[in-house]
Amino acid sequence: MDAHTIQQIAAEVGLDDCGLVAAHRREADATFMNDWVAKGLHGNMSYLERNQELRYDPRQLVTGAQTIVIGVLTYAHSGHDYHRTMKSALYELEKRLVEEDLRCGGNGKLTNENQQHVFCDSAPFLERAWAVEAGLGFIGKNHQLIHTRLGSMIHVGELVLNVPVQIDSPHPLSSRCGSCTRCIEACPGQALGNQEWDARKCVAYITHHCLNCQLICPYNESIQRNENRPCI
Ligand code: SF4
Ligand code: SF4
Repeated sequence: MDAHTIQQIAAEVGLDDCGLVAAHRREADATFMNDWVAKGLHGNMSYLERNQELRYDPRQLVTGAQTIVIGVLTYAHSGHDYHRTMKSALYELEKRLVEEDLRCGGNGKLTNENQQHVFCDSAPFLERAWAVEAGLGFIGKNHQLIHTRLGSMIHVGELVLNVPVQIDSPHPLSSRCGSCTRCIEACPGQALGNQEWDARKCVAYITHHCLNCQLICPYNESIQRNENRPCI
C-alpha cells in the first residue's frame, strides 16, 4: 500500500485532500504546547491540560498506530455536521483500503476496527501539526492551518492505521504569508501578532462570532473567487 493509492481513494470517497505521515512522538510540539498552556494562553480550555502524552504521541492513543492519514474537507463540502461527514468519509476510506489491499493480495491486516481510530475534533490530537508535516499546508500569521489550494476554511480529521505505508519524503511547509499582515490588522481582539495565539483575546473563542482573520486572508479570497492561489 502506498500513499499515492490512498490519496486517490481518498478523493473517490469525497475528501478534498489527504496527506500521510508515519506515527511518531512530536517532541517539539510537546515543548511548545506545554509552554503555551503554562503561560495560561489557552484560557478556559482546561482539556488542553489533560492527556498530554496522548496528544503528543498517537501511538499512545491507538495501540499499534503506524500511519496517520489526515483528511481535509472544505467548509463547503462538509456541511453543518462536519464531524459526521468527515468520519463517514474516513471510515469509507478505511473500508476501501481493506478491500483494495486484499484484492491486490496484500496482507490486509488493518485490525483497528475494535478501537477508536477515526477522529475529528474528538481526541487529543495535534491535527494541524500533522497536516503541516504531511505537506498539506502551513500555519499562517492568523494561527490557522492554511491549505495552499483550499485556504483555511477547512476541517481536518484523522484515520490511524496499524500498518506502515510507503510515503514519499514529507515536505512540511513553512509560512507563506510573506509580508502580509491583513489578519493581524483585522483582529478585533488583538489576539494575533505574536508568536503565540492568545485565546483569551480571541472573540471567536469567547463568542464564536468572528471569522475576520480567515475572511480577510488572500488564501481564502482566491478560493471564494475560484481563482488560483495568491502570490504574496
Ligand atoms: S477569530 Fe477574530 S478575534 Fe480571533 S484571532 Fe481571528 S480575527 Fe482575532
Ligand atoms: S491574512 Fe496574510 S498574514 Fe494573515 S494568514 Fe493570511 S496570508 Fe498570512
